[in-house]
Amino acid sequence: MKLKTLLLLLCSVAPAAWGWSNHTVGSYLALQNLPALHEAALVEVEPLERFLSQQYPAIVQLLDEQERFARQHFAQYPPRPDNLKLPAMPGDNPRQAFLMALRVNPEIHLAMAIQPLPGQDLPQRKHLKAEQVMVEQTLSPWNRQRFIQLAEGEKVAPLAVLASAADEPDYGHDINLFSDNAGEVAALYGFGPQPFGDERFQYSSQAPFHMGFFHENPVVYAAAGFLERSWPDWRAYQYLGLARLAFATGHSYWGYRFLGWGLHHVQDLTQPYHAKPLPGVGLLSMLLMEAKALAGFASSKHEAIERVATRHMEVEKYQAAWLYRLLRSGQQVHPMIQAYADTAQDASYPPYSVDYLREVVSAQSADAGAAFDDVIGQWLASAPASSSFSAGNQVQREDYDHPQLNQQLFELLEHFGAHSRIYVRAGLAPSAAGKAAP
Ligand SMILES: [Zn+2]
Repeated sequence: MKLKTLLLLLCSVAPAAWGWSNHTVGSYLALQNLPALHEAALVEVEPLERFLSQQYPAIVQLLDEQERFARQHFAQYPPRPDNLKLPAMPGDNPRQAFLMALRVNPEIHLAMAIQPLPGQDLPQRKHLKAEQVMVEQTLSPWNRQRFIQLAEGEKVAPLAVLASAADEPDYGHDINLFSDNAGEVAALYGFGPQPFGDERFQYSSQAPFHMGFFHENPVVYAAAGFLERSWPDWRAYQYLGLARLAFATGHSYWGYRFLGWGLHHVQDLTQPYHAKPLPGVGLLSMLLMEAKALAGFASSKHEAIERVATRHMEVEKYQAAWLYRLLRSGQQVHPMIQAYADTAQDASYPPYSVDYLREVVSAQSADAGAAFDDVIGQWLASAPASSSFSAGNQVQREDYDHPQLNQQLFELLEHFGAHSRIYVRAGLAPSAAGKAAP
């Protein structure tokens, strides 16, 4: 049980809103050369309510099929309470009923907006403020997205819709869904108490939908079963089914948007700190730390907790600041930008399936965790005093000249790009149109 305490603390440190920073930027870079997107016609912006009212019976059927499948298939899946099922005939507020049937936070704004790539904003267009796009818990001084407002009926590029939607699950979809969270739906959704998440962050309750520790030692699970209670793979499944339905019924705007939501969860798991609670720490070390803490020497435990939090945050800041600098300076050819777009490994992965996140994406990412954590440690040890969390998003002077760190970073971003394309191709495949099951 003491191990459980340790792991609870360890898991409580990871800021879940990262996962390679702004997902829109990485998505543009990963997907921009995909022929299926390139050649696709512009799509017409439509409100969610229109998709719901025009396809209501098909949506009811899809969500019922998905619930049946999820109960059989996903480990530790908390069944959806039957009263959240969509009624056969739409009620007064179909949007709220739909979000609740998906067990998503019904307070999300679902703004009609796209993010431009850094350096490619359109200042003449009207922009939305962050608080018009993101729920209050996800606002932070770190947010630096620009949101170009879209009008209903406007024609927009599929890539812009898809890439923008890939950042959206961090705007509140999974906030306050657990029975011990604040808010209206906490008691209704049936997810039970929140298994992990850092209480220092207002958005911490989303963590179990954005991280997944699927490849731990059985001893760890035996001591800390709550580590298995996370469902990023289920979210990717739900949104893929909705995307296919929307495409098949002529609601392409929503097709790309749902596909972007699912893509977010795939991308999150390419970040090793979203796939391992404590990368680089073996089981024995964990037990030893706990034994020392029990004997009254808790410092190594607290150091481990601090260390993981710092490394995760610092490497994402390093990568994001570097990428923004490259994009703002208009640099087209650079190993980091090429890493996102490199399709060389795409064919080496198994075809997409409902277990792809668990068996391929997170397995690969968990495997890379220890070496990645180690090289970040070496970089931080050689770098000038790093900015603390309280120093906000101040970008320190950084020359990005750490070959070992950069090599691992580029490799992980290649994985980000490849898995993004594989998921998107699965959503766009015509043969799969309309089918919810894998
Ligand atoms: Zn996320």
